[in-house]
Amino acid sequence: LSTTDTIEPRRICVCVRKRPLNKQDINKKEIDVVSVPGKGALLVHEPKQKVDLTKYLDNQVFHFDYSFDETATNELVYKFTAKPLVQSIFEGAMATCFAYGQTGSGKTHTMGGDFTGRQQNNTKGIYALAAQDVFTYLHHRRFVNRDLSAYVSFFEIYNGKVYDLLNKKAKLRVLEDDRQQVQVVGLEEVLVSNAEEVIKMIQIGSACRTSGQTSANANSSRSHAVLQIALRCNDRAATLHGKFSLVDLAGNERGTDVSSNDRSTLVETAEINRSLLALKECIRSLGKNSDHIPFRMSTLTKVLRDSFIGEKSRTCMIAMVSPGMASCEYTMNTLRYADRVKEL
Ligand code: ADP
Ligand code: MG
Repeated sequence: LSTTDTIEPRRICVCVRKRPLNKQDINKKEIDVVSVPGKGALLVHEPKQKVDLTKYLDNQVFHFDYSFDETATNELVYKFTAKPLVQSIFEGAMATCFAYGQTGSGKTHTMGGDFTGRQQNNTKGIYALAAQDVFTYLHHRRFVNRDLSAYVSFFEIYNGKVYDLLNKKAKLRVLEDDRQQVQVVGLEEVLVSNAEEVIKMIQIGSACRTSGQTSANANSSRSHAVLQIALRCNDRAATLHGKFSLVDLAGNERGTDVSSNDRSTLVETAEINRSLLALKECIRSLGKNSDHIPFRMSTLTKVLRDSFIGEKSRTCMIAMVSPGMASCEYTMNTLRYADRVKEL
């Protein structure tokens, strides 16, 4: 894969990204059990035991549209995943890009980057890279046949409730009208005129996401974060032209975690499982051009309803995997899920 290839947007694109072993992994003497031979393939060398107790590695192969190894930069991943979708919203599409995977697999690194403070290495994520391209296209009139403006909103879904990250985590209601139009009532939508303003919003929202942990959401890995960039026509009604939703999903590991008996954790877990199942079903219906989209199954799919209908919907899922042997079971779960989402 090279950054000079041209990528045509497809309706559903499913990719996988392996992160490098980090310091913690190395301290724990983690063994790397994931390899990426290229051409969309990814191999997991799963440790198994025979009946006579001899140990062996069971090689499992998966195939996706693209597979990124630990040397891939956010720029490279962006180029093959979200960038074609940015172009599609100028053509009137409702586009979505999801980061899926267990906690610690690199979802926030990929979407938000590391410039929001945790590390000082200023790595831009897909949020910022997409924002830059939105304005590149807006300023290049040849991409735009209408007078358009860009608006940003940023919210979090925790336990099926929506919280506005650009308005002090105000709790918002999701309403569906009789024409099945879904609306998040009162969601802040900020008019932005350059990428720096979007990055500012991302920083404000990300800080808001991890603060005020007394009420809801003690741990951001248990919530979905949704950044939306909407293109609206500069007419009196500010008609929606296209929209890009970029989603840093809640960690998917809880489905296999049965160690907790805490009731609130169980409720959280059930909600996360429900929304990830609903998401899979909605993307699959999009792939099959099905009339029945089960978007009412979860708040996540309800608020993203527009993205699963219509000829112009485009979606991309980036499945993140940790390389370590200790994560093997989670990695296999992630890959099986991503495999099910692939267009048939
Ligand atoms: P998640 O959001 O899935 O819980 P994070 O994005 O927070 O995971 O990643 C966990 C840790 O691994 C962070 O310290 C992050 O900086 C690091 N990391 C993740 N992906 C990469 C990558 N591709 N290259 C370098 N470091 C990464
Ligand atoms: Mg995260």
